[in-house]
Amino acid sequence: MNALIYIDLDSVHPVIDGVWHRASPTSMPDPGDRITMLCGAAAVAEYERLERRREHGTPTMCPRCDVVYRQQKGIPPPRMRPS
Ligand SMILES: [Zn+2]
Repeated sequence: MNALIYIDLDSVHPVIDGVWHRASPTSMPDPGDRITMLCGAAAVAEYERLERRREHGTPTMCPRCDVVYRQQKGIPPPRMRPS
């Protein structure tokens, strides 16, 4: 008997040097697999428990990944705040 663990691949946001990115994997990468993000950054996959995500500060969003993701999904760009 197997215990299936269902994972939402849309919620996979790899963090590289404190910046979270978006990737569009077709399956969960194995540890050691090379992942290419939507922005073109590439890194080797490793896993950690979610509660450790902020141990080195809150990750910030990769703006280039956001642009590519929005283009792919037909989501308009965010409004710029008036300065
Ligand atoms: Zn990115």
